[in-house]
Amino acid sequence: MPGYNCMQIVAEDLDIVDKTPIKKKIWWPKREEWVNKTQGFAEVQRKGVGDDHGAQYDVIVIGAGHNGLIAATYLAKAGLKTILFERRLEAGGGLCTEEVTLPGFQHNLHSYFHDAVKIMPPMKDLELERYGMRYVCPPVQVGVPLATAKAITLHGDLESTCKSIARFSEHDAKAYRDMHNAYREFIEVVVVPALFSPAAKPSDPFRALEGTPEGMDYLHLSRKSPREVVEDVFDSDIVRAAILFQLTVPRGVVADYKGLGMLVPLMISQVEQSHVAIGGSHSLAHSLWRSYLAAKGSIRGVHEVEKIIIENGAAVGVKIRSVRADDGGSREHGRRQHDRPASDLPPPRRSRTRGRETSSQVDNVRLDEFSFFGVHLALSEAPKFTSAGFDPDMNRALKIGIGIDSVQNILDVYEKVRNHKLPDPAGCTAPCRRSTTRLRRRPECTPPSCGQHVPFRVAGESDDVWDRIGEEYADRCVEAFARYAPNLKKSILKRYVFTPLDIPRKLINMREGGVFMARTSQDQIESFAPCRK
Ligand SMILES: Cc1cc2nc3c(=O)[nH]c(=O)nc-3n(C[C@H](O)[C@H](O)[C@H](O)COP(=O)(O)OP(=O)(O)OC[C@H]3O[C@@H](n4cnc5c(N)ncnc54)[C@H](O)[C@@H]3O)c2cc1C
Repeated sequence: MPGYNCMQIVAEDLDIVDKTPIKKKIWWPKREEWVNKTQGFAEVQRKGVGDDHGAQYDVIVIGAGHNGLIAATYLAKAGLKTILFERRLEAGGGLCTEEVTLPGFQHNLHSYFHDAVKIMPPMKDLELERYGMRYVCPPVQVGVPLATAKAITLHGDLESTCKSIARFSEHDAKAYRDMHNAYREFIEVVVVPALFSPAAKPSDPFRALEGTPEGMDYLHLSRKSPREVVEDVFDSDIVRAAILFQLTVPRGVVADYKGLGMLVPLMISQVEQSHVAIGGSHSLAHSLWRSYLAAKGSIRGVHEVEKIIIENGAAVGVKIRSVRADDGGSREHGRRQHDRPASDLPPPRRSRTRGRETSSQVDNVRLDEFSFFGVHLALSEAPKFTSAGFDPDMNRALKIGIGIDSVQNILDVYEKVRNHKLPDPAGCTAPCRRSTTRLRRRPECTPPSCGQHVPFRVAGESDDVWDRIGEEYADRCVEAFARYAPNLKKSILKRYVFTPLDIPRKLINMREGGVFMARTSQDQIESFAPCRK
């Protein structure tokens, strides 16, 4: 296929989407079962605590990001009277798609691609396809153009991935296939269900895994860092770097994070694949709130929860205040301008979490090590990579990693970030090519973004540094990207810079411009999740 034909790719991708009607019968516990199982619920109900509107709620959910919407919908479907407070006008949180450049170019300002779409239970449980959710799964998931004008591509399909790897190392292509075959079933049957279950006791996974050779291998890998695993398994530095790139950009896991080596087989098993929402990531928010409203949940936008009211160690209410509709809607209007007097809205339910314990756990959360800098581009034509001469699939890749010809290149970026220095815009650039409706109507238009992990604070600079240097750093990002795709600069119709400072301006919970709101390190996941009680 000469050049880049987005329409053709979208058509191919649509075939990959599972259009099978959802037939699963969903079981929902009856309300009484929840009440009986929930310590304190009945007691607080007896107290008959009212609210300012005379209504009572079984559950108050704070924040209508996808996590809040999903949790609230499960609870509403179970018959609990549920209300969701969201401080922004729009529901969705990081499912945020906006026309920030030109009309019709709909840019995903936060999440671009969604992993685990096929395997996450809410998709079916909450009937999201019925409520309009449609995804495509790009066949070429990752492209890494190299300084030599060669490239490596990782695909949804194992054979194509191994073919690309074999051009650098036959040994590594075999090692990749072997790891895939060794772990695919194990990850589907053992690991994935655990991802959607309550966190186990630390000893539980050991007990479950130590009985089989695969389980023992998995435990062994979980003692290492991802970098150690790829160095043990693969010979080529190019192959190692391409695999590690997938951990940093979508998952926030840096190659040297000890104890997360088991993520390497998780990626190679290809159980998770990156999907792109048709119409933009915000479409998922639409399907989620449709599902929530159908379950008779209530939602109030432009209401910020200022405080959780604790009485005798139990959460008994929230203090809310209305915020203006334009608060957080755009960078220009990104500051709160007007607050109405607060009102108290108590839920009748006793929280099982002790207030002081929870707040000290929250205080101790270690935030992300890095923030994210983005330049969103409205283009007249898609980037054409020089390295497509070597591997034409480069022009079809969803995520592009530039400047990562070796593992050391990746480590250098994060060393700079840790030292609060600006990395050369080369580490992790991830254009997403097909996230807009405009793209589907006009295949020549693509809205990619260049992104780079950067420090939130820069050594020796004041806190507003990103407001001052954003445009200049965006120039550097575009320059770096254009070295690999020479047509880029002349195709730019308009650009929009989204700096680390803009992240918490839009979503206040993304403190310090963190992408995941907490570091994905071994001491903060699974049984050790910060608010585990
Ligand atoms: C630049 C960037 C790129 C990213 N790219 C990806 C990606 O490609 N793929 C991916 O999977 N993830 C990505 N992420 C991460 C993803 O956006 C988050 O993991 C996700 O948004 C978390 O969802 P959530 O529901 O927990 O929280 P959020 O999406 O942050 O939602 C929380 C909601 O709560 C509201 N809220 C907060 N405090 C209050 C309050 N006191 N009262 C009322 N409402 C409140 C907020 O306004 C917000 O709407 C990216 C993040 C960033 C910043």
